[in-house]
Amino acid sequence: MQVALDDYIWAAGIATELVNTAPEVWHGEEHLSDLAAFAALHSLPEPTRSGDLRAIHRLRTTVRGLIDAPDRARLIDGAFALTSTAGGVTLHSDSARWAVSLQPSATVTDALSLICGVGILGVVQTLGAERFRACGAPTCRGAFIDTTRPGRRRYCMPGLCGNRVNVANHRARIKRRGG
Ligand SMILES: [Zn+2]
Repeated sequence: MQVALDDYIWAAGIATELVNTAPEVWHGEEHLSDLAAFAALHSLPEPTRSGDLRAIHRLRTTVRGLIDAPDRARLIDGAFALTSTAGGVTLHSDSARWAVSLQPSATVTDALSLICGVGILGVVQTLGAERFRACGAPTCRGAFIDTTRPGRRRYCMPGLCGNRVNVANHRARIKRRGG
């Protein structure tokens, strides 16, 4: 498996998706228990070891820790550590894109770790450390990496948290009108 270094928007999106499967975001309910499905969805190597799911949960905690304290130097150090699972950086002549190749024996954790590392590094470098944020919905404990062009994303899961806030605001308006 290869991860192209200019594909950081895709990679950061997967990192965001990963952290928002955590029980803390879902009132204690685990949203990443079917690792095979998650791996298939993102074209990751198939999970083969009994410890894979636990390793992915640990990775999720690490990535969340980085998003929660987005100091530039800390993000870079943390992301470098995540990319250390890769064999090395190679230039693929067919596409002229810099890409990192994983060892053929790489596990699903190695792959996801590399993806999260590339996503974080690319966003820090291109968009800045202020793109690592907590969800803006008052009742949500999610977090995200904002890769939008204007950088004004507010919610970890815009379809869900954004809608909840809109509904709450709408109800509050109706209440104020005495309706
Ligand atoms: Zn949210």
